[in-house]
Amino acid sequence: MTDPTRPEVIGTIADLRARLRETRQDGTGRAGPTVALVPTMGALHAGHLALVTRARELADVVVVSIFVNPLQFGAGEDLATYPRTLDADVELLARNGVDLVFAPTAAQMYPHGATETRVTAGHIGSLYDGASRPGHFDGMLTVVSKLLHIVGPDAALFGQKDAQQVFLVQRMVEELNVPVRIEVVPTVRENGGLALSSRNGYLRQDQREGARALSQGLEAAASAARTGGGGAPAALDAARAVIEAQPLVKLDYLVVVHPQTFLPVGDDYRGPARMLVAALVGTTRLIDNAPLDLS
Ligand code: AMP
Repeated sequence: MTDPTRPEVIGTIADLRARLRETRQDGTGRAGPTVALVPTMGALHAGHLALVTRARELADVVVVSIFVNPLQFGAGEDLATYPRTLDADVELLARNGVDLVFAPTAAQMYPHGATETRVTAGHIGSLYDGASRPGHFDGMLTVVSKLLHIVGPDAALFGQKDAQQVFLVQRMVEELNVPVRIEVVPTVRENGGLALSSRNGYLRQDQREGARALSQGLEAAASAARTGGGGAPAALDAARAVIEAQPLVKLDYLVVVHPQTFLPVGDDYRGPARMLVAALVGTTRLIDNAPLDLS
């Protein structure tokens, strides 16, 4: 029996949250409708729609945010030219059962200019894409954190295509006890294997064909990992051979990381891993990744 003259002492976060949920329901036992958030930068394609489809399975109400976040673009990057197609995006979302679109201006999100308070992505945020794009992941985590606070969703959905982003968002949510379920959706690809991206629109036809070398390299790595027994070095060699054979593609980084730590695996490592790749095709930076089973 609880003693009404004494506070209830709760020792775990899960118990505290369950207790507060009961209190808020005010004894009715009825929960309100659930909400799922799909954060995007717009210029929507079938990859974004896969997130929307999953969001509709998970929640009663789907919110899609469309915001080209200045905080996650570096000097000399494509902030000014990033495709902005709000009317077409809203039309597409209307046809795909989305209830709410949140499309704020930069002044709405950052009324005092760039925020002084930031979420930092730590060491992993400085590697791979973070090495080529300093500050990118701090800016990304900061806006994701703001969106989670603004919308307060039960679930938020992210694409596996941005593997480092997924890792950092999951870690932020865990480390800062953000009360949201993070759901990861597999990468949607064109027929030739190229991962769909809003930046693919920058590519000429020959570049678009050349860009297939990224997914083809990942496939070569996966099959080398399955059959060769040579660990990460053999997988890296297999991928590099395919990608470097394509003259339109300039490799930025190619790495095999541990799925739990996101640090590069050693040559002797055996087990599940993920290969990450980034390359320039002309002036367009593309990324991709795939799981590897290093046996
Ligand atoms: P963006 O608009 O590029 O910021 O992407 C918004 C969300 O869509 C992110 O969670 C991305 O990972 C996800 N996304 C982008 N492209 C794809 C794709 N080809 N397949 C699955 N998800 C994607």
